[in-house]
Amino acid sequence: MKIPAPLWILAATVTLACNTSLAQKLSAPEAATVRAVDEGNAAAQSLLETIVNMNSGTFNIAGVSAVGKVLERELQGLGFKTTSINEEAVKRAPSLLAEHRGRRGGKRVLLIGHMDTVFEPTHPFQRLERNGNIITGPGVNDMKGGLVVMIAGLRALHGAGLLKDANISVFITADEEAAGETIESSRKDLIAAARNADVALSFEGVVVRDGLEYASTARRGSTQWKLHVKAKAAHSGSIFSKDTGDGAAFEMSRVLAQFHDTLREPNMTYSVGLALAGSQIKVQPDGNASVAGKGNIVPGEAMVIGDLRVLTPEQLTRVQEKMKAIATASLPGTQSALEFEQGYPPMAPTPGNIALLTELNGVNQSLGAPALQALDPMLRGAGDASFIAPFIDVLDGVGLAGEGSHTATENADLSRLPLQTKRTALLIHRLTRQSVRAR
Ligand SMILES: [Zn+2]
Repeated sequence: MKIPAPLWILAATVTLACNTSLAQKLSAPEAATVRAVDEGNAAAQSLLETIVNMNSGTFNIAGVSAVGKVLERELQGLGFKTTSINEEAVKRAPSLLAEHRGRRGGKRVLLIGHMDTVFEPTHPFQRLERNGNIITGPGVNDMKGGLVVMIAGLRALHGAGLLKDANISVFITADEEAAGETIESSRKDLIAAARNADVALSFEGVVVRDGLEYASTARRGSTQWKLHVKAKAAHSGSIFSKDTGDGAAFEMSRVLAQFHDTLREPNMTYSVGLALAGSQIKVQPDGNASVAGKGNIVPGEAMVIGDLRVLTPEQLTRVQEKMKAIATASLPGTQSALEFEQGYPPMAPTPGNIALLTELNGVNQSLGAPALQALDPMLRGAGDASFIAPFIDVLDGVGLAGEGSHTATENADLSRLPLQTKRTALLIHRLTRQSVRAR
């Protein structure tokens, strides 16, 4: 339909007015930050190349420590006070804590990441290679690319004079890919940093699917469960009798069949990774196991090890209760006991986490950049953000986009680095400008 010119102009003006009233305009220092990101892009790329070419497989203590030193110098150069946190007790390289103190009453923002990769020095995948905008290399996506987004963003804020009033802490772990044991010990300083902050961003890569970008407001937690079955060992011919009962193998099967048939619900998965029945069952920490048995016996022992992944603490408690109730109703002559060992706590999709994504999309609007969606938690495993989520609001997945992490085709897209850095820098800035009412 042809619209007469004056009406068409009016319609266009109204649309424009609506858009600009929704989007908070960039302030002058914010615009300076955006320019500083573009000016610093070559330096950011070269920092990425430097740290990707330094091997930092989790068990390469010297290598992880050396990457930590590079990051420490970068943050010191921006006015952060750094602390190297000794992790010898859990047989890992030191973690890095960096703190920047600003105005009283401003929100304290915690930025987290990890400097280790899954590629040890013996792995053939060691160097960054570039093909146009696509780079491959160990950690380009998971997550040295994210560390560079973080540092390049802080550099730009520093250049625009926006760091001086800001309360920002950075915590970079040395062992995200293989957390030192015990978890309580290896994650206590990260949790302490979270307790000293009001809000957190985690720099794992933004996820791109079908051209849309996703950050994480929720991640499922993981819990290991073990089923121990005891029964009367006997000759096979006496099974199901009053004296012998049903044996450990049938009891184990009963429990697993009921788990299979009755537990399923949205956002939750459970799996069996190892199942044994017989006698003299031994399971080593590395997963190797041994068992004895024959066709003509009723087995006296069974053991099952499995995994449970849930979205919220309430879901965890509810499913654990259902599992225990199933285990308790043992067959004649048998007794089942179930134990749970929490790995990663769930990062639930709390209103606070979702508000952080809304805040980031406010930044996107100011930049004229596309909005990020919330990633389906079924599509991302557990990570360090999960440990701090019980204490503060967290948004994860604000690092450099890429694919193939944990494989020798791990890659990232350098053309996305400037926008990702601008978004993140401005989000950090706007968060630090907010006031904390009560603490
Ligand atoms: Zn990883």
